[in-house]
Amino acid sequence: MIPYGHQWIDDDDVDAVVRVLKSDWLTTGPCVAEFEQALCSYTGAKNAIAVNSATSALDIAVQSLDLPRGSEIITTPFTFAATANSILFNGHIPVFADIQRETRNIDPESIRSKITKKTRAIMYVDYAGQPCDIEEIRAIADEYNLLLIEDAAHALGASYRNKKVGTFADITVFSFHPVKPITTAEGGAALTDNPVLAERMRLLRSHGIKKEISPQANSGKAWEYDMVMLGRNYRITDLQAALGISQMTKIDTFISKRNELASYYHKHLKDIPFLELPTTTPGVHHGWHLYTLLVTGIERDSFFDYLREQEIGVNVHYIPTYRFSYYKDHLPTEVTGYPVTEDVFSRIITLPLYPGINSQMTDFVIEKIRAYG
Ligand SMILES: *Cc1c(COP(=O)(O)O)cnc(C)c1O
Repeated sequence: MIPYGHQWIDDDDVDAVVRVLKSDWLTTGPCVAEFEQALCSYTGAKNAIAVNSATSALDIAVQSLDLPRGSEIITTPFTFAATANSILFNGHIPVFADIQRETRNIDPESIRSKITKKTRAIMYVDYAGQPCDIEEIRAIADEYNLLLIEDAAHALGASYRNKKVGTFADITVFSFHPVKPITTAEGGAALTDNPVLAERMRLLRSHGIKKEISPQANSGKAWEYDMVMLGRNYRITDLQAALGISQMTKIDTFISKRNELASYYHKHLKDIPFLELPTTTPGVHHGWHLYTLLVTGIERDSFFDYLREQEIGVNVHYIPTYRFSYYKDHLPTEVTGYPVTEDVFSRIITLPLYPGINSQMTDFVIEKIRAYG
């Protein structure tokens, strides 16, 4: 089976991890700080907090905002479950906005229609690695005094108006799961220019425990520490951070390769009448984490089954979050009225795309698609 996504690991990645295995630090050590510095230099962000997954990063991002319980956070339903889950973890209410068909990104007009007195933040996702209409979302946030979290799990290496993703929102989150733009096996990071949010997220990564405590509270004893926030253990290991540092040296190569592959698919699929190809918005440098098609006039599920029978690991990204049983059982009101999300969900299919795919594989995928029907 050709998977829809796969990591790229070189010998220098392996060597970097082995060096740490033979060092004094297995978990938090010098590589974590160095990896965070690499993320900051690459994106231009002032602070990066590396953790054990993007799910953890989203959780501490929401917690660090310190919103009153029951606040509403507007988000997209067309994403992985972890996006809205991070809102629920913190006792808040995810309010879903509809998406735009061409990009599958959250629709700023729909965001506006969902704002209430309880809205405190917007959590948007750069679907497939294509940055959202960030200027428009920022304008809404400024108008209504809302905070922004960018779930950029797909979008490390992507740019908006010639600026790398990482500094647009109050907090930006990346994922380093094997199918994502770079990998640390499991891993994620939260980036922010805000020193208060950075300090809170650093504490929340490790139990909310503070070693440097105020002179009043300090007994003068060397063993003294305090716990000032309710944190968990979300630490990333030095082994993973070493892999991350090594992968960061290849990020631009990975993104170029993904762009080449997307162009290749486009060139060879554009005349097929039953396909609507993905588009790139002007002013955006796409990360191409996912290459998704919309089918028209054919059954998506029959097409999907046919491609799977050919050992092509197509996928559906995503089942809208509000369709999950847990959400149906736990949201205060019934969730309906997402015509674009429902239409896209019924017609979408993800093709294999990752840096290690070769032309025999892409040609095989194209040939089987052309032979359909
Ligand atoms: C993969 C993903 C996550 C979760 O990432 P993990 O590192 O696996 O926890 C969150 N949001 C989106 C949009 C994702 O694709």
